Amino acid sequence: MTVHIHPSVDNGVKQGSGHFAGGTLVCKCHDRPVKVGITGDVAHNHACGCTKCWKPSGATFSVVAVVPRQNVTVLENGDKLKIVDASAVIQRYACTGCGTHMYGRIENTGHPFYGLDFIHPELFQEQGSAAPGFAAFVSSVIESGVKPEQMGEIRARLKELGLEPYDCLSPALMDAIATHVAKAKAA
Ligand SMILES: [Zn+2]
Ligand SMILES: [Zn+2]
Repeated sequence: MTVHIHPSVDNGVKQGSGHFAGGTLVCKCHDRPVKVGITGDVAHNHACGCTKCWKPSGATFSVVAVVPRQNVTVLENGDKLKIVDASAVIQRYACTGCGTHMYGRIENTGHPFYGLDFIHPELFQEQGSAAPGFAAFVSSVIESGVKPEQMGEIRARLKELGLEPYDCLSPALMDAIATHVAKAKAA
C-alpha cells in the first residue's frame, strides 16, 4: 500500500532555493482567482496533520508555513475571501469559490504566534520557497479518518521523506511557545 502524505512531497521533498524573494499565492478558481502577494521566503514550513488546516483533495496532511503578517497583501479578487471560523484562534481566509485557504491570521496580540500569518506554499506560482522540514500533529490524522493501524506506515514514510513526525509542534516551536508563556507570567 502506498502512503500518501501530500502531493507536493509524495515524490520527495523539493528543497528551497535558499534565496526565495517572495511570490504570489493563487487559489484554484479558473474564473477570477484570488491572488495574495507574499514578500520574502516562508519559515517553519511543515506538514500538518490537524483537522483545521486546508489540504488539497486526497492529501492526508496539509503543508503550511508562516510569514510575517506585514508581508501578506491581497492583490486580486479579495472580495471572494471569507473567514472560515471567526471564533478560531487562527482566522483562516478562504476563497468562497473553491474553498482554498489563502492565509490564516491571529488577531490575539497575546498569542505566541501573533504577527505571523499561516500560508500554504504549494499555492505559490513560483518555485523555490523553503521546503517543509518536519511533520506536526501527526496523530491528529486519525481524526480525519486514518485508521490507527496505519500510523506506523505513515510515521515511517514521514521519516523516509526527512519530515520528522511530532504529535504536537516541533521541539523548537514548542520551546518558543513555552518561552512566551514563561515571559508573560513573569511580567
Ligand atoms: Zn478560488
Ligand atoms: Zn494544521
